[in-house]
Amino acid sequence: MAFCGLCGGTYDGASGPPPSAHHECNERLAMEPPRYCAACRRRMKVQVTPLGWSAECSRHGVLVP
Ligand SMILES: [Zn+2]
Ligand SMILES: [Zn+2]
Repeated sequence: MAFCGLCGGTYDGASGPPPSAHHECNERLAMEPPRYCAACRRRMKVQVTPLGWSAECSRHGVLVP
């Protein structure tokens, strides 16, 4: 994965928060859907479903938990 699904930052600190900040992001991602595609950083279309959630990237398709 190139980008953080929660904040859209990179894991090497080149963009967005420092790498250590993503520890918190990862904990939140265990509870809530990602907002950004981890592959291309596009904003994903998030839908909450009775079973949880789905997040759709216009390029990479639907991501489910
Ligand atoms: Zn993050
Ligand atoms: Zn994508």
